[in-house]
Order: sequence, then C-alpha cells, then structure tokens
Amino acid sequence: MKAKILIVGGGAMGTSVALSAAKRCDPLTEPVILIEKGSLGSGSSGRTGAVIHQGYAERPLAGMARDALKVYAGMHRLVGRNVGYKRTGVLVVAGTDPETIAVLKRNVEMQRSLGINVKVMTAQEMRAICPGIMVDDAAMGSYEPDGGYVEPRRTIDTFAALARSYGASTRTGVQNPTVLVENGRAVGVATSEGEFRAPNVVLATGPWTGVILKELGVEMPLRVVRIEETFFEMPDPPALEDVDDAIDDDIETRFQPDPLDLMPAAHPVILDQVNGLHLRCEPKAKRTRVGRIGFDGLPELERPESLNEEVSDDFRNWASPLLNGRMPVYGEMAPCGNQAAWITLTPDQRPIVGQVKEIPGLYVVTGFSGNDFQLAPSIGEGLAQMILGQPVSAIDEEFFSPSRFAAV
Ligand SMILES: Cc1cc2nc3c(=O)[nH]c(=O)nc-3n(C[C@H](O)[C@H](O)[C@H](O)COP(=O)(O)OP(=O)(O)OC[C@H]3O[C@@H](n4cnc5c(N)ncnc54)[C@H](O)[C@@H]3O)c2cc1C
Repeated sequence: MKAKILIVGGGAMGTSVALSAAKRCDPLTEPVILIEKGSLGSGSSGRTGAVIHQGYAERPLAGMARDALKVYAGMHRLVGRNVGYKRTGVLVVAGTDPETIAVLKRNVEMQRSLGINVKVMTAQEMRAICPGIMVDDAAMGSYEPDGGYVEPRRTIDTFAALARSYGASTRTGVQNPTVLVENGRAVGVATSEGEFRAPNVVLATGPWTGVILKELGVEMPLRVVRIEETFFEMPDPPALEDVDDAIDDDIETRFQPDPLDLMPAAHPVILDQVNGLHLRCEPKAKRTRVGRIGFDGLPELERPESLNEEVSDDFRNWASPLLNGRMPVYGEMAPCGNQAAWITLTPDQRPIVGQVKEIPGLYVVTGFSGNDFQLAPSIGEGLAQMILGQPVSAIDEEFFSPSRFAAV
C-alpha cells in the first residue's frame, strides 16, 4: 500500500496527526494511513486522566494549551462529536512557600498575557471554590475556570473518525511493524500484512519510540518510567445552595456543578503542588483518580512490554494521608482500584516533535513527560504543517526540535 503520510501509533498524538494531515491531503493522490499494533488508545492515552488546563510555565506550551482547549470545547458544536469535555475548573494549590508563590504569580501573569482566563487565589477564595478543602491561611493558589478534562477514549475515537471522514484510513491490530529505511531515508513500514510505503513516516509510538529508534541506530534521550495511580469513590457533589452561600460575590470564576449536568463532578480538578498529588473526578465511574505530580525515583522500564500491571497498595498508602489532609471527605471514601502506566520522559520534560535528522522522512512525536494529552490538537496540526512544507503556525518548531539535545 502507498501513502503520502504513514503514521505509526494510534494514541492521542497519532490520531491527531492523522486528522490534521488528512484535512490537508487529497485522499486519492496523497493518502494518509495510520497503523496501530493494538487497538486505538492501547498506550498511555488509554490510561490518562486527560486533564485539560493551560497552566504551563513555558509560554509556547501555554499558548498551545489555550488553542487546544478551544478545540475540545468547540468540538461538539463544530463537528457534532462529543469528546466529553467537562469544564470543572482547575485549582492549583501552591502552598505558602514565598518562592513557589512568586513563580505561580509570574506564570499566571504570563498566561493572562496570552488571553488565558486564570487568576491567583487566596486561601479564602480556594475554600469558596472548593468546599471542604483544607489550606493554610497563608496559602496561595490559582484557578482556571475553563479547565477540566475530556474523556480520553472518546477523544481518540473522535480524532480517528474525523481523520477517516477526510479520507484517511486507520488500521488496527497490524502486527510486527518495522520501519523501512532505504538509502538512508525512511520509505515505509513492513508489517505482517505486507509493506506500507510512504515518503513520510511518523512515529507516534509513545513509550515504544525509544526502542524503535534504537533499532534504527538513532539515540534519543527518552526514558520510560512506570507510574501508579489510585482511585477512590467520588464524594457527592456539593448542593448548589451550599456552593452559592460559600462564595463571595467578588469571585467571578467559581466551581459550580452544572444544574443540567446529570453526572456532575464533586470538585474542580485539584493540582496540589505541596503534596505532589492531583485529583480528577470521574463522575461516570463514580470515582476520583489520584495521581502524582513529579516522576523522580520512579522505576525505569527498558521495554514498555515489561510494565508490571500488578499494583500494590503502596502508592495509595503513601497518598491517602496527604489526600485526607487536603480533602478530608476522602477519609470516608472507599478505595476502588489502582492502575499502572507508562510515562515517557525527556531531559527537559518537553516533548520531541519533528524530523529525525539521521533519517530524512522519519518524524517523531513523543516524550510528553506525563502531560500534554491536551496538546494533541496543536501537535497534530503543527506536525502536519511541517511534513507538508507549510508555514508552521501551530507549534514552535525549535522548542520541540529532536536536535535540541545534540546541541547541548
Ligand atoms: C497515568 C497517566 C496520567 C496522565 N494524565 C494526563 C493528564 O491529566 N493530562 C495530560 O495532558 N496528559 C496526561 N498524561 C500524559 C498523556 O496521556 C500522554 O502524553 C499521551 O497520552 C501520549 O500519547 P501518545 O499518542 O504520544 O502515546 P500513546 O498513547 O502511548 O500511543 C502510542 C501508540 O502507539 C502504538 N504502537 C507502539 N509501537 C507500535 C508499532 N511498532 N506499530 C504500531 N503501533 C505501535 C501503541 O500500541 C499505542 O497505541 C498522563 C499519562 C499517564 C500515563
């Protein structure tokens, strides 16, 4: 089979690249094909919390998050498909450390200069936004009312379905894909179903990318670590009257369960920088996901297949006292499961997006360092522009360049 662009990997990034590429290519003369060895979303994207927020410390990332949020929020209206975007708001608890507060304020200022709706909050305001939260009187935080989350599988399915509607094809369960290189150029992928030939091959293979590149003789500083998350029953959302009573009139941005929402979240997404935890309600499953912020000391995986799916209660036992100290209501909530997953890290915790200089025609999109599901629309757009030689407006090419590590 022949394609103009062949995408390997059907996670958030691969499906988003397929969509943006298909929009720009003639399906008859410039086909776009995505191949996935498992099912769509069988990598990190199927296990993500998919929190959507614009609270990045780096300007290019904050700008992309702002643009991506518009895509998620407008998807239903624009294309009639729902990615499960819930606007619960995102509350960052920065604590009392003056240096951390100074950084928070600087970041909020930068984000606001990009047009992002976010504000610094006092302890009193945080308590009003998030009834039941325990914060020190001197603590500061920030609140982003438009943040929340999407449903990752619906998002991936939507990207893939839209890509197909523009003429792309998506093939799952394609076994043993191997990148073909001829005369130093990527020319396609050999699989058990035969060869897929294409002058542009995109590795959107998440945690598998480092291994694939190594087999091609390319070294990139990618590390894959194993992360655990735990789940608790979700508390009941606060009664609307209680939230109203608790809120001062001068706080114009606040978490309020939507009265028309049949399955409201119990509270905003909480990014607790003090304890290194994040909380994201999953109303449909009546549970709250608790994960960690920061990946220091996590066990490294040589090969993604070696991920141990058996999860002990160690992470939960560590997280519980911190969680209960922050949101005491969780002391009454029953545990309901754990999961293990992969995080693909780069040394500067920024993704790698672009052409592999050692192998022209081969592109990588990986290293999202535990974030950035939310950036998928901008990444897809930017990479499609790059491959097709169009002006690259959706991402900052230099910022994500695979060559940036060689230059250090
Ligand atoms: C527990 C957890 C929580 C997270 N929470 C958030 C969050 O709240 N917000 C946020 O923005 N981000 C979050 N992230 C990060 C985010 O999920 C990832 O950055 C994102 O999902 C990466 O998507 P991807 O498409 O690059 O990779 P993946 O989803 O891993 O996709 C790679 C795909 O490639 C396929 N593949 C691999 N090798 C081959 C091959 N040789 N041939 C064919 N197919 C192949 C795999 O089967 C897989 O489907 C979280 C991640 C994890 C693990």
